[in-house]
Amino acid sequence: MAGEPQDDCLFCKIVAGRIPATVVRETETTVAFRDINPQAPTHILVIPKVHHPDAVALANAEPAILADVVRETGEVASDEKLDSYRVVFNTGSGAGQTVFHAHAHVLGGRGLQWPPG
Ligand code: IMP
Repeated sequence: MAGEPQDDCLFCKIVAGRIPATVVRETETTVAFRDINPQAPTHILVIPKVHHPDAVALANAEPAILADVVRETGEVASDEKLDSYRVVFNTGSGAGQTVFHAHAHVLGGRGLQWPPG
């Protein structure tokens, strides 16, 4: 069923505490943890606890939780004292998505180029 934990999902395992992660924030609906392969001095992932394959699927199924994820990106940026930062939802393998559980990347702490590669 949509939203239910998936046995083969890495981020569902992090939500369940079955795989360790450096968690920096947690709410009733979200978890934020440091990316294992950081692309910037601050690189934190904010994920919903519910399982949906990407941000658009989450928006369609549970829009209030997507809003929670986006709000948490701001809390993370504030905690990390980032004046400027980038929030990225890679969507689809062609755009670099490798984990098919919705997540926002929060990147900051260095100059960020536009357009991204
Ligand atoms: P995507 O490429 O947009 O799907 O982002 C997935 C992110 O998850 C990548 O930036 C990975 O470095 C990160 N990642 C993969 N495994 C782990 C982990 O176990 N802990 C934290 N981050 C992870």
